[in-house]
Amino acid sequence: MTSSLSPARVDPSITTCMSVGQDVFAFVDGELTPAAAADVTIHLARCDACRVRAVAAERLVARLRRAARTDALPAAPPALRSHVEAMLAAWRPVPRAAAE
Ligand SMILES: [Zn+2]
Repeated sequence: MTSSLSPARVDPSITTCMSVGQDVFAFVDGELTPAAAADVTIHLARCDACRVRAVAAERLVARLRRAARTDALPAAPPALRSHVEAMLAAWRPVPRAAAE
């Protein structure tokens, strides 16, 4: 008996929730082909669950982009900085053992 869902009977052009889930970040980043992006757009117009997932992915990507633009690293606490500077000032190379 042949299943009605056998791979030969599944239309590959049908965008499923699973395929949208796999492509959602590529879609948000504009990395899909125009045809694939159009398929995802059509699916999102019909599927609330995937639209929620796409909006969440969009927000995450936007936050990551903002974070990547912020290149200011937090300064070391003054006590740590003083300690490291004192260690560097006191550092002396260890003399090598006298050659025999
Ligand atoms: Zn869906």
